[in-house]
Amino acid sequence: MFAKVLIDIKHEEVNRFFDYIIPSDMIDDLSRGMRVIVPFGNQTRMGYVISIIDHSDQATKEIIELLDVIPTIQEETFVLIDYLLQETNDLYSAIFETVVPSELTMDYFLEIRIVKPDIIDKDFYKVFDKNGVLRLSKSNHTYDYKIRKYVKLNALEVQPLWRQKATEKQLFAYQFNTRHHYERINQYPELDLLSDRHYLKHELNDFGLTDGKINTLVKHHVLMKEKVQINREIKHVYELKDKNVSLTKKQQLVYDNFANRKHEGKTYLLKGVTGSGKTELYLKWIFDVLNEHKQVLILVPEITLIAPMAHRLESAFGKIAIYHSQLSKGERFDQYMKVKRGEINIVLGTRSAVFLPLEQLGLIIIDEEHDTSYEQLEHVIYDAREVAKIRAEYHQCPLILGSATPSISTMYQALEGPIQLLTLDERPFDIEQPSLTFVDMREELRQKNTSMFSKLLKDSIQDRLDKQEQIMILFNRKGYAPFVMCRQCGYVPTCPTCGISLTYYQTNNRLKCHYCGYEESYSHTCTECHQQTMKPVGVGIEQVEREIEKIFPHADVIRMDANVTKTKGSHELIWHDFQNQKADILLGTQMIAKGLDFPNVTLVGVLMADLMLKTPSYRASEDAFMLLTQVAGRSGRTKHGEVIIQGYDLAHFAIKDVELGYDTFYKEALYERKISGYEPFNHVYQIRAEGLGYLHTYQVLFTLKKKLELYDGITVLGPVPAYIKKKGDKFRFVMTIKSSLDSKEPIFKNMKLFKEESVNLRFYPLPDCL
Ligand code: ADP
Ligand code: ZN
Repeated sequence: MFAKVLIDIKHEEVNRFFDYIIPSDMIDDLSRGMRVIVPFGNQTRMGYVISIIDHSDQATKEIIELLDVIPTIQEETFVLIDYLLQETNDLYSAIFETVVPSELTMDYFLEIRIVKPDIIDKDFYKVFDKNGVLRLSKSNHTYDYKIRKYVKLNALEVQPLWRQKATEKQLFAYQFNTRHHYERINQYPELDLLSDRHYLKHELNDFGLTDGKINTLVKHHVLMKEKVQINREIKHVYELKDKNVSLTKKQQLVYDNFANRKHEGKTYLLKGVTGSGKTELYLKWIFDVLNEHKQVLILVPEITLIAPMAHRLESAFGKIAIYHSQLSKGERFDQYMKVKRGEINIVLGTRSAVFLPLEQLGLIIIDEEHDTSYEQLEHVIYDAREVAKIRAEYHQCPLILGSATPSISTMYQALEGPIQLLTLDERPFDIEQPSLTFVDMREELRQKNTSMFSKLLKDSIQDRLDKQEQIMILFNRKGYAPFVMCRQCGYVPTCPTCGISLTYYQTNNRLKCHYCGYEESYSHTCTECHQQTMKPVGVGIEQVEREIEKIFPHADVIRMDANVTKTKGSHELIWHDFQNQKADILLGTQMIAKGLDFPNVTLVGVLMADLMLKTPSYRASEDAFMLLTQVAGRSGRTKHGEVIIQGYDLAHFAIKDVELGYDTFYKEALYERKISGYEPFNHVYQIRAEGLGYLHTYQVLFTLKKKLELYDGITVLGPVPAYIKKKGDKFRFVMTIKSSLDSKEPIFKNMKLFKEESVNLRFYPLPDCL
């Protein structure tokens, strides 16, 4: 028997399956989807078994090791892999890497052992340990030359090694042995406190058993010491409290409307104004699904929303699995294993959790479905909402998309297409939507107010501080200043790889590239003209924080942006502190706008609302409207609230419609999309070319454009230089494709024709990747 295996190397030339002989003792255990270790060229690599076959003309080598008992890639995951292949045309290996948690992939090493010590030169000898062994990671090539030389002389042996990136955590634990024969047992009254479970050392210490006592007891077989597997639990700061609400009439209607239908893989849109009780409805539906002994997958767009949602889920249902990128490798591995072993029925996570192997799915919920964080825009590009649709179909279970402001495409499909619409148009009880005021900052300037805060916003903040109510301020730009400039010579420091200007962070006095993360220290001295005339230009959120501290010196402010939420648990702490009124003002970027429920917030202020319309994307109006409407919805959730939106250019419909509401916005935005031929009327893709010659790179893309435009239903915009015009020594151009064709085959076919050594072409199935 033979196995077709995909090797875990991302390269054009190994983008196919290789045949291996299955050793006879492995035949009974091996099945499709399992991970194996195989020899590959002069390497040893991990691979995935794609199929098992009776005949092969190519296979010459045997599989070395079988890593799984249950397949890592289940049949459903193969379906998702096929989907991603069709969508992206990416390499197999890249796609497998997307659907398999990285914790299950391998680190590779070489173990080099000295066999003839007397030949090895002294300097090299020093790098080996006392057993004459040196371990090198695969990417370390420092000693390549010497190793080759000594291997030829048979003075060294080289052995390839591999290790899974994360594994089960094992610790020593102790169990009381009732059948011991120790006579001095009376000297250990602490033992009476123990039950027959396993105890960790620190737990025994808590009972008063010192390390010395433990050792004695182990020696006399009173305590049995053994390795046990530890589940790395995710810690939370919150306390559980079950609300158990009874639904209002309107909520009950929506509940019934969903519960009484045949689901069969259908998608539903739950469109409910902010605070209308969408989450309460999720909880009721989840309860029903659990009763049918099925499982639930819930996605939220950002880590910020994990803690509040986890709080409500755990309060209602007890233990759940949580999966997002800020967990440690070990924690993620344990969460994954819990899901894989079928030990848990509710999984909550961000985008990448959409691939977790739940075998009994009965419901998928995507909260805040309008959020573009559901799109992965790097590596293998995918939209978690679309992946969820495929999974719902596979399991014939419903998918619920929830939002106060559905994305244009989803709303369009709910009104004109296959999505079923459920609507909640009011908040429970008598709480009205907050009142809204726009403030034109040009007018403030004319009134000689040069502060970032209008008089109205300042007064309103003071008013809430006096009443001990809370305030949220949205300002959507990171750092202290968007760039720095020399006032003498005009020099603006830019990123050496991306070419875009660097953002200034005052907290650690550094300049950072928002695109690639490059950093350097900031100094007042210009590196070009050597004058002490460098100065930050423009406003970032750190500067707003300084200003608030100046105007309201007695207010407690928490800032929430990408910079302060880098460390694990920080999202949850900020949410918890503000929820428990440990601060008066929460200042943040778009992070604070999403889905958070703070009962004591009665004022929301937005600074420079029109900033969000300046991004070069056809989705800028949608993004701006959603952000403003969402943040406005944070106000007045239990008491009447107020929203103040400041800006310089407030006439745009995306801003005005925050007052008129979603339905008005939807109509206007759809009209805009229709006349310009964007989604949902056409698919929008991009292709990027990257090459050494400026003109040549452009020409390749231009000729491809001409070819594609021969198809009915395809129009192409560009090519234009990419946002990052040059990366390293390569020039970059992009073009945007609008296509009414459902198949991408014509595009992939032509891209293949135009592929050449010197120009790299890449396809982007979603807009705004570039
Ligand atoms: P959404 O998810 O639509 O923003 P939530 O489900 O978070 O709305 O509801 C907003 C607040 O109102 C929550 O604190 C929630 O517990 C409360 N709530 C919603 N429906 C009810 C109800 N029928 N009875 C009591 N409280 C409710
Ligand atoms: Zn950069």
